[in-house]
Order: sequence, then structure tokens, then C-alpha cells
Amino acid sequence: MKKTVFLDRDGTLIIDKVYLNDPDQIEYLPDVFEALVLLKNAGFQFIIVTNQSGVPRGLVTIENLDETHRRIRKEFERHGVEFVGVYYAAYSVESEHPMRKPKPGMLLQGAKDHGVDLSKSWMIGDRVSDVIAGARAGCKTVLLIGTEAVPKDAPEEARPTIYADGLLVAAKEILNN
Ligand SMILES: [Mg+2]
Repeated sequence: MKKTVFLDRDGTLIIDKVYLNDPDQIEYLPDVFEALVLLKNAGFQFIIVTNQSGVPRGLVTIENLDETHRRIRKEFERHGVEFVGVYYAAYSVESEHPMRKPKPGMLLQGAKDHGVDLSKSWMIGDRVSDVIAGARAGCKTVLLIGTEAVPKDAPEEARPTIYADGLLVAAKEILNN
């Protein structure tokens, strides 16, 4: 059973271009490689879990989505970091599909496929739906500061274990937790 960091994609690993359909437009956020190397050296494996409602909207093709993920994996591998899994939920924003965050389906599937110890694992994302999905899967959670705030009256599952200003800070906080 492996401790794992589940990572949102847009706004967490790469700049959120809102329905990125062109793999040439991938732009990595600051220090993301260094952050994952730190966590890798501490024994974590990595899984990407990303909502892609642009697919059912016809704004993102599966071919381009797959190519985008192939390139992201390759670039991280160049830095010595492997994603054991990349899961996407190609369902509309209105969908109640169990794989679409804030539902935990992608994390639970990833856990099943890759022998994850969810109680020792983390979900990192820039939206409250990432936090909720992580909490529902039984993980600790990081909300990256800047995209979305947690409403004052939000339920417990929407409150992250840690707030962090960027992935490198998140990685260091996880190692201290
Ligand atoms: Mg995001």
C-alpha cells in the first residue's frame, strides 16, 4: 500500500487555460518539478485527477487531451517524476457522475488500480471541489491559494488540512505534517 499524492491538473500543475485543447499551450506553474521531486524522495507516488468538462462541450478532443497528458508525463519524467496514473472525468459541469470531482470516484479508482493507502495520502488542488473529493476519499487535503476561497459556512469536508501558496509550499507543508 503506497502513500500517494493526488494532483489536480489545471491551476495546480499547469496554468489553467480554460479548456486547453492545444498541447503546445501547456505552461507549467512555478516550482512544480522541484515540489514533486521532494515528495517523491519522501516516498510518495503520484496520480493526476482532472475534470475535463470541455470534452462534452466539444471544446477539447480526446486526442488532444491524451496528447496533452502524454507530454505532461514526459516532461515530469525528464525531471525524474512519474505519474502512475492520469484520470480524467469528461463529464459536463451539471453531471452528477461519480468520477467527476467533488465526487471521489477518480481517487477511489486510482487507489484500487495503484495500491494506494488513502489514509496516508493527500489531494492537492486549487478548487474547493478538489478538497471535497479528497476528503470524501479519506485523504488529507491541500487547497492552493488564489483560485477559490472556502465559504465561511462551508461544511467540514470543504475545509482543507492545509492552505498553501503554490505547489512547492504545499510539498514542504506535507513533509512537515
Ligand atoms: Mg484546478
